[in-house]
This record gives sequence, C-alpha cells and structure tokens, in this order.
Amino acid sequence: LSEKLQNVFKNLRSKGRLTEDDVKAALKEVKMALLEADVNFKVVKQFVKDVQERAIGQDVMNGLNPGQMVIKIVNEEMVKLMGSETTEIKLQPGKALTVIMMEGLQGAGKTTTAAKLAGKFKLKGKKVLLTACDIYRPGAIEQLQINGEKQGVEVFSMGDKIKPVNIAKAAIEHAAKNEFNIVILDTAGRLHIDDDMMAELQEIKENVTVHQTVLVVDAMTGQDAVNVAKMFDEKVGIDGVILTKLDGDTRGGAALSIRAVTGKPILYVGMGEKLSDLEQFYPDRMASRILGMGDVLTLIEKAQADIDEEQAKRIEQKMRKNEFDFEMYLESMSQMKKMGGLSSILGMMPGLGMGKGKMPEIDQEAAEKNMARTEAIIYSMTPEERRNPSLMNPSRKNRIAKGAGVDIAEVNRLVKQFEQMKKMMKQMPGMMKKGKRGMFKG
Ligand code: GDP
Ligand code: MG
Repeated sequence: LSEKLQNVFKNLRSKGRLTEDDVKAALKEVKMALLEADVNFKVVKQFVKDVQERAIGQDVMNGLNPGQMVIKIVNEEMVKLMGSETTEIKLQPGKALTVIMMEGLQGAGKTTTAAKLAGKFKLKGKKVLLTACDIYRPGAIEQLQINGEKQGVEVFSMGDKIKPVNIAKAAIEHAAKNEFNIVILDTAGRLHIDDDMMAELQEIKENVTVHQTVLVVDAMTGQDAVNVAKMFDEKVGIDGVILTKLDGDTRGGAALSIRAVTGKPILYVGMGEKLSDLEQFYPDRMASRILGMGDVLTLIEKAQADIDEEQAKRIEQKMRKNEFDFEMYLESMSQMKKMGGLSSILGMMPGLGMGKGKMPEIDQEAAEKNMARTEAIIYSMTPEERRNPSLMNPSRKNRIAKGAGVDIAEVNRLVKQFEQMKKMMKQMPGMMKKGKRGMFKG
C-alpha cells in the first residue's frame, strides 16, 4: 500500500488551498490502493468520502505541500477508522474472576494467543488458568499444556471425552476455589464458519458467565478475516478482536476494516510465533505503518508544532499581560482553522479529557458554522471594541448583531464566552509554555 500511496500525492499542484480537482484525483488513487490492500469496499467508499469532505478547500499548512496535506488528512481518518484509541480487555474489578473466551477459525492462532495473553496477565500479577476446551483437534490439549508450561501458567484439561461446556464449568469452579483471577477458555475452531462450532460457543456462553469474548483472526486473510468477524459477532457476539500474524501481513486491509465493519475494537496484534510476540494495538502506529510514510508523518508533526510560532508567542505575551481581546480571539480562530479545525485542536489539547478517541463525537460541521458566525460578529465590531471589549454596551451590541445578521442574544453569548475564556486563561498561565503540547502548537 505504501509505495502506491507515495506516488499518488506527487501530482498535486494546488497552492494555498486544496482544490476539488486535486483532492479527487488523489483520492481516486487512494481508493485503488486501499482496494488492492484488501480493505472492505464499503469501508473504502465511506473513507474516501470522509477524507474528501474534509480535504476540499482545506488550507495547506505552512511547511507542507498539498500532497502532504492530503496525507495528513488520510492519516488522521485512518486512525479514526481504527477506533482512535487503545482498548484493553476489560477485567472484573479487584480480584474478582474474569472469564475470557477465545474464539475463531482453526489455525487463526487462538491457542497461541491464549498463552500469550496468559503471560501478559501474569506479568500484571494475575493468577491465570488456561482451559483446554478444544477436544477435536489432535494435539490441541498438549499444545496448550506446552505453552502453559512455558508461561508458567496452570492448564486445566479433562481430556477429549467431556463436552466443552462442561469443561468450562468445571474450570471456573476450580478457579473460584483456588483464587484465580482469570480463566481463559481455549475453544475449538473449524476450517470455515460452521454451525456446530457456533452452537458449541453459544452453549458455553449460555451456561457459564463469559465476561469477555475475544475473537482471534488471521490478518493475512484480509477481507475474509473481516467477514469472519462479522459472522462471529452476529452468532456468538464478540467484545474485541485480536489480529494475529500481522508480522506476515503487508497490506493492512483487515486492520483497517474490522472496526468499521463490526464496531468492535482491535485489542492486541500478534507479531510472531514466539509467546512474547503480542502487542497492544495502537491505531496511530498502525496508520503510519499502513501508510508507510514515516518521514512525511514526522514532517507533518513538525509543521504542526511550528505553526506560526510567532503568532503563538505574541498571543502568549498578551495573555501574560492579561490583554486578551477580540483581535486575538480572531487570530486564534484563524490559527485553529489552519490546524485542521476544532476537533483536531481539541484532540491535541492535553488535560481536557478529549483524547483523540472522543473526536468523532464532535460535530465538525456545526462547530465550523459556529466559528463562522463568531467571526462575523467580531468583524462587525469596530477595532476599538475589539481591543477594548469593556466598551460593549447594549446599543453597541445591537449594532454589532445587525451588522453580523445575528440575534443580539448571540452577541451576548459571545461576549460572555469571551470573558470566561479570559478568566480561564488567567488561571493557567503555564499552558502556552508547554512547548510542543501547548495550546496553539501541535
Ligand atoms: P488455533 O487453531 O486458532 O488454536 O491456532 P494456533 O494457536 O494453533 O496457531 C496456528 C499457527 O499460527 C501456529 O503455527 C502458530 O505458531 C501461528 N501463529 C499464531 N499467532 C501468530 C502470529 O502472530 N504470527 C505468526 N507468524 N504466527 C502465528
Ligand atoms: Mg487451538
């Protein structure tokens, strides 16, 4: 995928703003590249639409060329598509027992991954019981026992004559008696989606309390992995997905589409056959990997950090002197636009409880309309009023409202908001100095 995308963006010529023609031409190539990477076609369609909507008319950031600007947006949308933030397997509070059921097709990597997970939990001080519920595959029980031993984790098995649901019941009883924190059920897969397999998993879920159902899929199977995920989610339900064999997958199709198709997060990724080869899933790292444009992404970060350093400094100085006024309000708004809109600003601001994961909740369009109205109001003020907001009285506000074509209530709201902002800024003088993570820098 990366190589294809590298070439896509070279032809963009637009200066200043991304034009519709340029964006469309670039995205046509992106679309092809994604389809070739085996990304689900519905996902591709929506993705291209989202990027297009965001990109057309977007100002090109200082320090970037138009192609890089499109990459920036493609990258951000990819991260969003994969769920933005890292998700953990949810454990029961305190020492309470959590039952985790692994499911997936044969050969996906359930048994290996169960042992990998057991090791991770053990490192966190949990007492883990691996349970052999695959009574069909020859050698399955032994495989789990060997892996359990390597990890120093107890393996519960009852041979291959007892029904998996009863093995699960017995294992959970054993775990409860012996103060285990986690039971991992290693179930049997089939080569293809199969009613018997689904029925067996359903039976387990109906008869024992399964807290987390984790689907294991092989990343190398691309779109098939996504279809499998959809089926399992519909028939048995899944809480999250572990994507294995990512070490052999160069395309990234499954990683990109699973979340979008099932709505379920990717929890971990398998990066090799060794029991230590299980990594937390980071959507941003995955996006960089898929794009394969480390250099460009670094450049983008830098541009974001450098954005109008001068302007930021000036605003900081004024703020220190508590001279924040509507002129600056305007300036900071235009800066926000340059940086890719409100939601990306909020995503970058530390401590606001608005990590990247919450971004999709912000209605970008509404926020931008709101910003345009705010701008109109400020433009209707005289320069004096902008510099000295305390001049504002009802007759001035009335005139401003008429000039901006809004209701006077909106002017009032803005003035009030402005005052609150000023107060807030006074309380956190350190904010602008935090360098890279500061408010007006990337
Ligand atoms: P199960 O049938 O779902 O239980 O699958 P297994 O756990 O038996 O794994 C099937 C094969 O895939 C084994 O040879 C594993 O070593 C291999 N495997 C599992 N996870 C990974 C991974 O993340 N990377 C690689 N390269 N191989 C893996
Ligand atoms: Mg197995």
